[in-house]
Amino acid sequence: MVRPNIRSLYAYEAKELPCRAKLDANESPYPLTDWSSQKLLNRVKRVMTNRYPDPEAKELKKVVGSYFGVSSGNLLQGNGSDELISSLITTFGGPVLYPVPTFSMYGIISQALGEKGIAVPLDKSFDIDLERVLKIIRSQNPKLIFLSSPNNPTGNCFSSGKILRIIEKSKGIVVVDEAYQPFSSQRGFLPFLNDYQNLVIMRTLSKIGLAALRLGFLLAHTEIIREVNKVRLPFNVNSFSQALAVAAMKDKKGVRSSIETIIRERDLLQKEMEKIRDVTSFPSEANFILFRVKHPDSVYSLLLKKGVLVRNLHSGIKGCLRVTVGTPEENTLFLKTLKSAFTEGPLRRREV
Ligand code: PMP
Repeated sequence: MVRPNIRSLYAYEAKELPCRAKLDANESPYPLTDWSSQKLLNRVKRVMTNRYPDPEAKELKKVVGSYFGVSSGNLLQGNGSDELISSLITTFGGPVLYPVPTFSMYGIISQALGEKGIAVPLDKSFDIDLERVLKIIRSQNPKLIFLSSPNNPTGNCFSSGKILRIIEKSKGIVVVDEAYQPFSSQRGFLPFLNDYQNLVIMRTLSKIGLAALRLGFLLAHTEIIREVNKVRLPFNVNSFSQALAVAAMKDKKGVRSSIETIIRERDLLQKEMEKIRDVTSFPSEANFILFRVKHPDSVYSLLLKKGVLVRNLHSGIKGCLRVTVGTPEENTLFLKTLKSAFTEGPLRRREV
């Protein structure tokens, strides 16, 4: 009785494995909320558990709007950006184009909603294959294009010139998914919002310490927000998430400082990984690093045995694993374990 497009789908897998260092899900290692803060406790206490949440998340949108420098009318709240991907595809339909490898939910949700997904391989340097994308725009007129920049799991930003060409040439909506923009040295696309009617920017609070709250946002022209808002389920963001996020996001200094620590740690991690002869790591503008090894499954298992959980992407990107930047202690444990994988045991390099 199940629809064929659902029957052939695989559920998104989020492994819950016991570990000492959880470096598999691109979360922040730092919770943003200071639980002893009286202001925060008062906010939580004021939540009326017998009442539905504010359907418009008015206060939250005001605070988040001020954080991004846009007004509430240009914002739409989601139960994580995952929900917003679904709302966008419900609103605009397919075909849905996305470069691969990228965040898997663009493809999964397209299929779940019965829309055609068009996966276009990235070029050798993990940048957009512009000619190919423009050709598909001409021949198949995708209603939606998802560009994760910085891209998960490759870690790089796509070249902004290519993104702009796609926005200019597309008759459909171009969504620049900036989940990892807080960690990037490159300018994001917020300044272009006024220039293009078909540009949508997607941001999430999940990577900056609030993953537990499930909060994502669309930033776009009011007409787009108004249409996508029609398919948003009522009360999609619960009262506790609204209250906690308001308190956390008002503390701009706290948000900034945890992001800066993660960037510093990422750069240190990158430098140390470059020194390991058997590891090829790719430059990152995000809070994770993609790296290639000769025996990815063995390295993954060895790390896990020592309590370090990373993401094994070998089935999609040959030889590759992805590590999220953790606390300095977690990163040290990861590095030590990774190094030892090649100096001890069955993976030890045999000198000739
Ligand atoms: N976009 C990208 C590129 C991601 O990597 C992720 C999370 N892994 C998401 C969106 C989803 O984020 P959220 O937690 O807001 O649903």
